[in-house]
Amino acid sequence: MKMLTRDKKNALIERFRSSKAGDQTGGNGAKPRKRHAARARFEDFEAYERIQIQRQASKRLGIGNPFFREHEVRAGGTSRIDGVDCVNFSNYDYLGLNGDPRVTAAAEQAIADYGTSVSASRIVSGERPIHRELERAIADLYQADDALTFVSGHATNVATIGHLFGPRDLVVHDALIHNSALVGAELSGAKRRMFPHNDWEALDRLLSEQRHQVDRVLIVIEGLYSMDGDTPDMARAIEIKKRHGAFLMVDEAHALGVLGDRGRGTWEAQGIDPAEVDIWMGTMSKTLSSCGGYIAGNTALIEMLRYGAPGFVYSVGLAPPLAAAALASLAILRDEPERVARLQTNGRHFLDAAKARGINTGDSEGYCVTPAILGSSIKAANCSNAMLEQGINVQPIIYPAVEERAARLRFFISAEHTKEQIDMALDRLQAWL
Ligand code: PMP
Repeated sequence: MKMLTRDKKNALIERFRSSKAGDQTGGNGAKPRKRHAARARFEDFEAYERIQIQRQASKRLGIGNPFFREHEVRAGGTSRIDGVDCVNFSNYDYLGLNGDPRVTAAAEQAIADYGTSVSASRIVSGERPIHRELERAIADLYQADDALTFVSGHATNVATIGHLFGPRDLVVHDALIHNSALVGAELSGAKRRMFPHNDWEALDRLLSEQRHQVDRVLIVIEGLYSMDGDTPDMARAIEIKKRHGAFLMVDEAHALGVLGDRGRGTWEAQGIDPAEVDIWMGTMSKTLSSCGGYIAGNTALIEMLRYGAPGFVYSVGLAPPLAAAALASLAILRDEPERVARLQTNGRHFLDAAKARGINTGDSEGYCVTPAILGSSIKAANCSNAMLEQGINVQPIIYPAVEERAARLRFFISAEHTKEQIDMALDRLQAWL
């Protein structure tokens, strides 16, 4: 490979950064144009150009693509990539339930009973008994009136926020909130404001300034932040939302099965009454080893979504094997809290061992997600590739998914990992750094 001068290399990196390559906001990259495009060609989209620039930059810098790695087996605490076995820190099957014989048997039985698809929206003939059984189990988890499942976790946030709120309302969210909540807020047409991560004073100030100008207010936070592995102070969030007459929505995607002695999530871990939160949101793609999302809350909320949320009403019902897999996973979560304890022990050990090796773990609290912050996208991609060569699969998170100075490797820790695997991975990371 031709060597680049330092200046050329820096120029290339700068171009790569300013290209916003890998934009995850879902935009099509269309800039306002001075005149109509003469031709209809996808190759002319700025979004496509950005991908090409990123590809060229990676090639010239000699960085192999760390994304879209193919796993050739059931990926859990270990996996196989390119025919080579590795320890896997890159999926959110936190309790190791994907492939559990009981989950697989439940999915198979559902296929035998109902087929692989319900082939219709729930509202018009797509309803199956397994849907309501699952929703009752989810509602019980939050001691809520009811729950509703959607075919994707991302679509759950988009459809729910987009449907419930409108142009006279305000959506306020933590700076680190997941993209799906942002897209939902944009769709709603509500005014959108963010507050610095976990900064309750800033949230309070913001609401004091804005509350009187708007009709309804929604505050959106996560129970466990998916990039940083830290948690919000629920007592503060609840006190503020009550004082300002706002709704509170908590995304439990990474908290279910992880937080609390029985893995019931944020409310159990922080000892709050689950009824204090207006909208509990979660996904079935993590601990529940399935696919889809859910909302739990009071009857009025669920009825409005059931009869009106576009991502529910105009979308097919959850596939029977996926509903059955999630339900079977919930039963295992209820019956085997020792899995949650194992995950928590592993998560704690990972954090302590990483800190002991001088690795920058940011604000992680040592549950299922801990980053190793490297401060450079290129370094993170190179490190991820080097780790894979040494039998460890861990994904880089690079700009613009996080700020450049916060580029990182993100480790997902599972109940399936052993202490030896964690120590070995951290030893190799420390040696590389
Ligand atoms: N919320 C959060 C916090 C997430 O991390 C994710 C994605 N992992 C989603 C929502 C979307 O969920 P899904 O991938 O199941 O669509």
